[in-house]
Amino acid sequence: MAALAVLPLLLAGLPLAAGAEPDPDAAATSLADAAAAGHAGDIVEVTVADQDAVAGLIEAGADVTEYTRQVDGGLLVHVVATPDQQAALRDLGYAVGDVVVSAAETEAVVAEREAAVRRVNQTLARTAETLTPLRAEWFESVGGQTYLGVEVKSSLGADSGTVLTVSFDGRSVTMDRFVDAGQYIYHTFFEPVAVDDVPAEVTVTSTGGASLTVPVVEWLGDPRPEPGPHYATGFVDHYMDPTELYDRIEALAAEFPDLAEIIDLPYETNGYRRKAQAMIGSDAAALYVTSHAWGHEGGNELRLETVNPGTANSPLSVGVSGGTIRVSLGTDGSGAPNSTAAQVVAAVNASPAASALVTASTYRTTGGTGVAVAGAQDLTDGLDAPAHISREPFTVRAIRIGRDRDGSKTGVFAYSQEHAREWVTPLVALETAERLLRNYATDAYTKQLVDDLDIFIVPSVNPDGSHFSFYDRAGQRRNMTNHCGPENSDPGRAATSWGVDLNRNFSVGSRFDGYSGASASCTSDTYSGPAELSEPEARNEVWLTQQYPNIRFAMNVHSYGGYFMWPPGAYIADGRVPLPRPTLGEENYFWAASSHILSAVQAWRGTAVWPGRTGPVSDVLYSAAGNSADEHWYNRGIFGWDFEVGADLWDPVEREWDPQGFQPPFAEGYEQAMEFSNGLIGLLEVARAYGHDVRPPRTTLELTDGGVTFEATEPVTIHYTLDGSRPTYSSPRVESAGLREDAAPIPVGAGSTRVHWFAVDAAGNVENRYDPLRGGTNYRKETVTVD
Ligand SMILES: [Zn+2]
Repeated sequence: MAALAVLPLLLAGLPLAAGAEPDPDAAATSLADAAAAGHAGDIVEVTVADQDAVAGLIEAGADVTEYTRQVDGGLLVHVVATPDQQAALRDLGYAVGDVVVSAAETEAVVAEREAAVRRVNQTLARTAETLTPLRAEWFESVGGQTYLGVEVKSSLGADSGTVLTVSFDGRSVTMDRFVDAGQYIYHTFFEPVAVDDVPAEVTVTSTGGASLTVPVVEWLGDPRPEPGPHYATGFVDHYMDPTELYDRIEALAAEFPDLAEIIDLPYETNGYRRKAQAMIGSDAAALYVTSHAWGHEGGNELRLETVNPGTANSPLSVGVSGGTIRVSLGTDGSGAPNSTAAQVVAAVNASPAASALVTASTYRTTGGTGVAVAGAQDLTDGLDAPAHISREPFTVRAIRIGRDRDGSKTGVFAYSQEHAREWVTPLVALETAERLLRNYATDAYTKQLVDDLDIFIVPSVNPDGSHFSFYDRAGQRRNMTNHCGPENSDPGRAATSWGVDLNRNFSVGSRFDGYSGASASCTSDTYSGPAELSEPEARNEVWLTQQYPNIRFAMNVHSYGGYFMWPPGAYIADGRVPLPRPTLGEENYFWAASSHILSAVQAWRGTAVWPGRTGPVSDVLYSAAGNSADEHWYNRGIFGWDFEVGADLWDPVEREWDPQGFQPPFAEGYEQAMEFSNGLIGLLEVARAYGHDVRPPRTTLELTDGGVTFEATEPVTIHYTLDGSRPTYSSPRVESAGLREDAAPIPVGAGSTRVHWFAVDAAGNVENRYDPLRGGTNYRKETVTVD
């Protein structure tokens, strides 16, 4: 800016400033010496006689800026000079005036700038983006259409402005950002992308600057043996209520006594039954009564009447005649009723005859402050199932299938319909039981499964809620147990809003432990119940796995959406902290088994469960505190999965995915039952292979840039030491690099490192048959050297 202020230079003729004629040579020397001292300079005013004198000043070595101003007695220029240089200038006879900008001020500005540069650099370092490819897969699904699924994690994904785009074959598709509990999880396609030709690779580009190209591999499609020529399927032809289902498995066990038996589970349900109720009035004027007897045991025979006596100043009174509770409302001086609903409720509950039959309540949180109205209503339990549906507590049963049902064979537990409205799920269970028993004599492959396994199938965990779903309210999810107080137990709530979500009632990672995804509200569809395992239906499952410790696998069959998931199924919301993840080897085993099971599902009519809907519950869906798969895995080490049968179907005309719902038309429900029964058979194959797995795994060590990694012949957990000590089960494990990622390399420093390790497979076989518990030295050993 100073340069712009330069004045016209022709100012010759002015007298030299006071003082001696400067000696340019001497001045140059002393100014240079001062400069060499390295001080920052002040900008000072120097007044000289004329432009020639300015030239002399420059010649003398002074750092003269372009700033020049005419003043009385000559020219004022600005010179950059340290205190020593200023002194030298004075010694030379120059008139050195005020400091315009001090060196300290300049240094402050320099420091400010450097700080700003550091901030910019730090930001740049932070924004240097890393993209981690998780999955890139193609698959074929119903109807032969092929699809593409891609998952990529961006180190900048927490920023909602980070947009990732997948490019292939001239197309670009924007990825979805998967966020849960306020945390970025990864980028994906929420719906797989339909493609006509499968790309060999895709390029992912981020607005954060990074890009990467990944090969596309096939998802599912593991070859399966053709069913034998006599293999029969299709044993269900309509949706079945629990009464029919359980009759059917009883009949099956009776028909195949050598191969099957029925196990009564010890905890009877509440039963498909309710107390009878009647309500008169609405809102604050409403009051309702609830019978002490179950509806079918006399409650439904009762009647409530509130009557205006038609006379002035009549007292409120309650009488009982036969099954009729008759309230005579109080009246004022004009004969109008003036009893509030709360007063009527108190009078009914104070009447020995009435309170022997019913309990009266005001409506919800109104307090019953309104004036009660006249009315009459029969009490009813509101249950519409035909009479042959028992109203008594229900004994839930398992059909146990296997040639040797003595605990010596690997056990598999399949259970359906924790959620009542999921009508397809019991058909999956029943179809599987029928296939096993009816094909045993003619199909060698089925015979192997039945001979080598101990199979427990519970077709409907929640028979009470399911009867209610079939006959009263199709949307019922929970059981029939009322844990609500009177404020939530009126007939409206009873019909729609109470019961316990059984898949939130278990004891691992529960709401009571602080985990997310279950409600404390008795009217919520994810109500956890008042305590862990408060419900007989949940206790039955736990009992079975305790009673038969040979059970190593479990399948919790739900609908809908086409998911296939495993633990961890719950996290603490604050920080999204999940239950402990399985080891990397266990997780790889879950994946490998899943690929086999889902390929079996696909073999029926081509349905591919999406890769994005496969994985730990908390990675692909949400947290479900207190679910049963976590119960079985964390408490008993059972490999537990959840099916959500009923995958979306592709509409080739609209080119969109159509969800199938809880109760699709039976033709579609049948297809779902068949394909997921295929999946259950696939699980039995996994279990049989597990039971036959006596071959120890083999691993090879590789030294990569990131450190030591291992290749293995099957999914394994690897324990290692780097200090020359003997590895045991408590030695460090090879861990995943992150959610849905591969193993993280083990870092090793420069020089030689002695790596001792052993691998153990899902069935517990240890590499080299080394015994980590007892001792021995036949673990694996290798020395790696990093230059
Ligand atoms: Zn469900």
